[in-house]
Amino acid sequence: MNFDYFMPTKLIFGAGSLQRLGTEPLPGKHALIVISSGKSMRKYGYLDRVIKLLRQNGADSVVFDKILPNPIDRHVMEGAALARERHCDFVVGLGGGSSIDSAKCIAMMSVNEGELWDYISGGSGKARPVKNQPLPIIAITTTAGTGTEADPWAVTTRTKTGEKIGFGFGGTFPLFSIIDSELIQTVPVNLAIFQAFDALFHSTEGYIAKTANPISDLLALKAVEGVFTYLPKILLDPGDKEAWSYIALSNTLSGIVESISSCTSEHAIEHAMSGYHPELTHGAGLIAISLAYYSFFANKVPQRMIQLARAAGKTDARNPQDFIHALAELEQRCGVNEIRLSDYGVENDPSKYAAHARHIMPGLFSADPYPLTEGDVAEIIRKSYC
Ligand SMILES: [Zn+2]
Repeated sequence: MNFDYFMPTKLIFGAGSLQRLGTEPLPGKHALIVISSGKSMRKYGYLDRVIKLLRQNGADSVVFDKILPNPIDRHVMEGAALARERHCDFVVGLGGGSSIDSAKCIAMMSVNEGELWDYISGGSGKARPVKNQPLPIIAITTTAGTGTEADPWAVTTRTKTGEKIGFGFGGTFPLFSIIDSELIQTVPVNLAIFQAFDALFHSTEGYIAKTANPISDLLALKAVEGVFTYLPKILLDPGDKEAWSYIALSNTLSGIVESISSCTSEHAIEHAMSGYHPELTHGAGLIAISLAYYSFFANKVPQRMIQLARAAGKTDARNPQDFIHALAELEQRCGVNEIRLSDYGVENDPSKYAAHARHIMPGLFSADPYPLTEGDVAEIIRKSYC
């Protein structure tokens, strides 16, 4: 029952809430706006709206638009150099998890010396303490995955070594985040499915983790219930505004769960694969290993799994396997039950990924409710491989 609750980000939630960027007190006058290298932020007019709202609120802006779906260290350093050159005093991450995560790292590297990997813990990171507080960060999320708007975490891949590692501390929480479900609703349903599963696993991991506490438990179960109830509704009717709002809410709640509990080794195993194979979408990688992963824990933490099954809609669940069945049914309903890791270039070499997972993110293994050996991890990957 001993825990800290620290979530300093102001959340501005709801349909139409992007307008609040025009009135909310800003932390500076010169913004660096970080977006992905894709077209959607311009195509849907979101970038223009953000620039206008900032201007209306007294801030000019410069745009950095190189972020890849799996962000890389080089782009963080380029964004930080641009922020310094243009004297930016805050950073706006606009888009999905990759843009917002990168905004956090850029905010940190624009006022600290050296390379991003000097500050990363795990793998070849040097784990140096961060000397200067990052520039203030504003997160505007246009997807419902990662939960980055409500947590301090930022995931980057070091291209040279294939290490995909999360970084974060109190200084990388956004100052405020805008979660406008009208923006999120434009995500194609096939991508929204992967993102919603990512959100789901942040909560299921946070719920079985050793770090779970009474507050994270409440939020995690609410988020699990939200994904299981409303994701099928979006599949039936992609115009269902209420369903999108609840999926957005589940994602944000899962972000808070990540902040006050922790992810577990499921995320480390996925990062080990997508770090080497960036074409593997994060959500797809998690889904591919999920049944084997939760089956491993089913009898190790039976009461927790039964509660998850109840939140997943099996209200009379009495058996930990009920959650595995609920998860398998949802994956089947969403058409993601036959993800082939080999299609994404993942090799049939479970031991390699098992060793890499522990090397890059040992902290997530220490949050597991039951210790996984390297052999256990390899077995989970082996069972998931096709
Ligand atoms: Zn994730």
